[in-house]
Order: sequence, then structure tokens, then C-alpha cells
Amino acid sequence: MRLNTVCQSAQCPNIYDCFAKKRCTFLLLGNRCTRNCRFCAVEKRKTQTLQAPQKEELFNIKEAVRRLDLRKVVITSVTRDDLSDGGAGHFAECIEILKGLSAGLDIEVLVPDFLGKKESIEKVVSGGPRGFSHNVETVPRLFTRVRPEAEYQRSLDAIRYAKEIAPWLITKSGLMVGLGETRKEVYNVMKDLKESGCDIITIGQYLMPNPHCLEVEEFLHPDEFVQFSKWARELGFEKFSCSPFTRSSKEGIWQS
Ligand code: SF4
Repeated sequence: MRLNTVCQSAQCPNIYDCFAKKRCTFLLLGNRCTRNCRFCAVEKRKTQTLQAPQKEELFNIKEAVRRLDLRKVVITSVTRDDLSDGGAGHFAECIEILKGLSAGLDIEVLVPDFLGKKESIEKVVSGGPRGFSHNVETVPRLFTRVRPEAEYQRSLDAIRYAKEIAPWLITKSGLMVGLGETRKEVYNVMKDLKESGCDIITIGQYLMPNPHCLEVEEFLHPDEFVQFSKWARELGFEKFSCSPFTRSSKEGIWQS
């Protein structure tokens, strides 16, 4: 059964811990991305035309959820700027199929920015996930170097719009540190996210997944993450996880 997980594609350091806890994040829309984020190990599309969204993928995820008897599922995807809706319809269908498996299944979607298309966000939200996550990943000053095809405001707007059209949704965003950002910049991103309707924030240390990715500029002392947690509490985030090994998809919306 062919199944993509971001755990494997992104070479996540927490993979064994999560798999042991029957936790994984399923990757939709194939395993090649149309973007080229410099921190990410997911395979990038070069010149080839990418496959259209595959129904088989959805049924394989359903089968995995059934076999693993999962109660909480995180669904994410590569970014498919080559698709008119960015793959939003495939997300909605996946949620529907999983809900058909078990109505009580808790589903978090970790989505791309869909190039800011509101109708794509509406489509995903219409599927009825419990959690809607989109990671800003870094501070605005570093976007060009770290996430060249993304835009900071567009990422904030994705969270804001999801919360606007579905106030009951639990919204979440994640940030990596250690790429040259200042503490003030981290604080400002946290504040911007809170003002954009973000309920949960995760902050973790960036680790270079392979030699083709950006080098780590700084390994932050664990005390710095304690400070980030203090800021998250002061800013009023409902939940937060800030530690060197925090990863957004590991810390689902259900974190205690
Ligand atoms: S958009 Fe996502 S999957 Fe694609 S390169 Fe960036 S982080 Fe990786």
C-alpha cells in the first residue's frame, strides 16, 4: 500500500517517537512539491509534470487509519501551485472519506497557503476538520531566503480567513528558530499570529535535514524556549509548545 507521510519525506527527527505512539502525518498530493523552501527535505518538482491528485491516495490513508486504529489524524500536503485549487478539493475529499470511517475521528489539516485563494480555504474548511493549521515557519525578513515562493502576509491571511469563516475551528501555526531571526522578530510574529486569530503556536529549533538545505545559524538554549512559552502565555495563546524538538505536526491541536 503506497502511503506518503511528511514524517518520512521531511526526514523528521521525531519519527520513531511518533510512530511508536501510532502518530503520523499523512502527506497528500504526491511527494513532490512545486515550491523550494530551503529548510525542507521534501522532493522538489524539477521539470516533470506532476500527477493529478490520486483517489488511491485517499483510500490508502483511510486503510492506514483503520489498520492503526487512529483516533487523531493530521493531514498535510506538498504545495501544488500547478493545480487550480492547489489541491483543496482533495483535502476536502480526504476529510470526508475519513469521517465516513469514523465520525468521531479528530482531523487536523496542515495546509499550504493556496496562493491566498479564499475559495480553496473555504473548500478545505467545508470538509469539516477540527483543526486548521498553516505554518509561517520563519520571520518576514527571512522569507526570501527561507521560503522564497511564500509571502508572510498571505500566511497570516490564511489563518485569519479560516477563523473568520469557521470560528469554531482550532487554528494553529508553527515557527522554526535558529535561522538568523532576532528574539524581537520572533515576538512580533507571535503577536501577528495571535491578532490573526491563531489559537495554538509551536516553536522548535531548526535542524538541517540534509546538506542541500540551509545551515543552522544558531542552536538556541532551552531557556530561550521557556521565554517563548512565557510570551505565548502573555499573548493569550490557548495552547503552545515551545522546545528544541517541537515540530508542528507532532504537536497536534490536541496537545495537553
Ligand atoms: S511548500 Fe512545504 S513541502 Fe513544499 S518545499 Fe515548502 S515546506 Fe516543503
